[in-house]
Amino acid sequence: MELQEILYSQGFGARRTCLGLVQQGLVTVGGALVTDPHEEFEPEGLRFTVEGRPWRYHAKAYLMLHKPAGYECSQKPSAWPSIYTLLPAPLRQRPVKGGQNGVQAIGRLDQDTTGLLLLSDDGAFIHRMGSPKKHVAKVYEVTTADAVDERQVKRLLEGVVLDDDPRPVRAAACEEVTEHTLRLTLTEGKYHQVKRMLAAVGNRVTALHRSRIGDLSLPDDLPPGHWRCLTLEQRAAAQ
Ligand code: URA
Repeated sequence: MELQEILYSQGFGARRTCLGLVQQGLVTVGGALVTDPHEEFEPEGLRFTVEGRPWRYHAKAYLMLHKPAGYECSQKPSAWPSIYTLLPAPLRQRPVKGGQNGVQAIGRLDQDTTGLLLLSDDGAFIHRMGSPKKHVAKVYEVTTADAVDERQVKRLLEGVVLDDDPRPVRAAACEEVTEHTLRLTLTEGKYHQVKRMLAAVGNRVTALHRSRIGDLSLPDDLPPGHWRCLTLEQRAAAQ
């Protein structure tokens, strides 16, 4: 693939911009300066730099983000900054055939919820991980205002009715971790589901953190606001 096309596919701007980046001597490949935008390279896994920033070619992007509190998952947030501002511009701009450009969050977390969020530009992956029909398990660490009692845990497991649907929703798993914390597993993703389920059993969520999606856990060494690419193993485990 031509270098100019490689840069374009990775989100470094319009084709003309990418042409200019190479011609201006701002791109190195494998440590060597390349000034011919039409020079061909095998793209998969290619390591290059653009204006000194290291990059690695991926036909599709698969990321995990440790969402901090105080960010909205929307592209057009109403009151708080968007999680997309935590990502470098190329990941937000990569061209996507037949879809919106850039990686998209798979499901949403509330502004005040922290934890694991997956993002991708691979429509099939987004569908597999995000479709309600796939019932991918999501684990939440829930901090509550009032002490949790056994009766509440039992009701969360048996099912509670929320205000927008007469069919009960239930936790796939629920364990008391401390007096004020629960580990709750959901296989659906209704709006504010954890908060509404806790309200339905007479308690209130004061902090919410997602620690796991499917077989993927949020790594201890990924601080809030930071992201990384999924490894091939993680991608396989997630599906
Ligand atoms: N349930 C909620 O109430 N909020 C979230 O952010 C995620 C699940």
